[in-house]
Amino acid sequence: ARVGVVRESNAGERRVALVPKIIPSLLKQGVQVVIESGAGLGALIPDSDYEAAGATIGDPWSAEVVVKVAPPSDAEVAKLSAGQTLIGFLAPRNAENQIGKLKSAGVQAFAVEAIPRISRAQVMDALSSQANVAGYKAVLLAASESTRFFPMLTTAAGTVKPATVLVLGVGVAGLQALATAKRLGGRTTGYDVRPEVADQVRSVGAQWLDLGIDAAGEGGYARELTDDEKAKQQQALEDAIKGFDVVITTALVPGRPAPRLVTAAAVEGMKPGSVIVDLAGETGGNCELTEPGEIVVKHEVTIASPLNLPATMPEHASELYSKNISALLELMLVDGKLAPDFSDQVLADSCVTREGEA
Ligand code: NAD
Repeated sequence: ARVGVVRESNAGERRVALVPKIIPSLLKQGVQVVIESGAGLGALIPDSDYEAAGATIGDPWSAEVVVKVAPPSDAEVAKLSAGQTLIGFLAPRNAENQIGKLKSAGVQAFAVEAIPRISRAQVMDALSSQANVAGYKAVLLAASESTRFFPMLTTAAGTVKPATVLVLGVGVAGLQALATAKRLGGRTTGYDVRPEVADQVRSVGAQWLDLGIDAAGEGGYARELTDDEKAKQQQALEDAIKGFDVVITTALVPGRPAPRLVTAAAVEGMKPGSVIVDLAGETGGNCELTEPGEIVVKHEVTIASPLNLPATMPEHASELYSKNISALLELMLVDGKLAPDFSDQVLADSCVTREGEA
């Protein structure tokens, strides 16, 4: 099979779907790799590095399989034709995705978001690999926006108390945020509505905040809370949040708007100079005062809601994503030819449109 790697066109998107390092193993499986000139530049990878790894520079859009990071634009969908396969983030749960258009065009498309969260598929789990980047970077952003230290410092000029850090929503990003805040010397606490998370929170040296709400849903994800549970949660969090210097929120429910965990009153209750980093901006934000994509100051609290943090660390984010994509590709190959076996749950779930079906 021929695999094409495109140059991403979204503003700020610096990642690339395959890095040179992964190419030799694909070649060994009988795959040819075509790179669009400049595809790696955002991640500081020149065309020559791809050529040295055995890829050719050319038109990726004519390849049998096109691999991407960000969902395709209209112009990009128009470059694809019937019989081609597209692999990438396709936002299958977003009302404004391109899957309908891909289907009409006769393109077979695999959405990495729809890969099941099962052990066998962990190596392909792009949501996880990129959430790790986001959780890490969220803490660095919080530290740089903070007026205070994270670690406890004992100096000749006095002693500084460690920052207290609360992470709301402890999936992959939240767990990485807790671990990163701990490494910086913060005193960490985690909260989630899935009770099974408590042990994971403790395993990264954080305290578990228990509000007595159990909302474990399907597939390892959370379900949306009832109105009563929401009110109870907001009130309990309003009381808890007051004591923290930094709050990092990552709570998501698949296909639903982000749960509102931090009310305006909770922000008002925080000490001046405190920081909130809201990673749920893309689906509306976990904080009532969040302005997605902006850093704002409300009630003397800085609220940052960065979008697409993984793109701000393009080198490692691309490296991890490449491994995810190549593992998914390998699962579809038989003797170097593309032959996806749809009795395999990973391929059946992640395929969002094929042969006119959606
Ligand atoms: P996610 O991004 O969908 O959500 C982030 C977190 O927000 C979740 O932990 C969720 O429980 C929490 N949340 C939702 N509503 C909330 C609310 N009202 N209040 C507080 N918290 C709320 O989650 P994710 O990072 O994609 O992880 C989803 C699941 O998949 C987790 O169970 C994770 O451990 C699991 N997972 C499994 C594998 C595997 O292969 N076994 C791999 C990766 C992830």
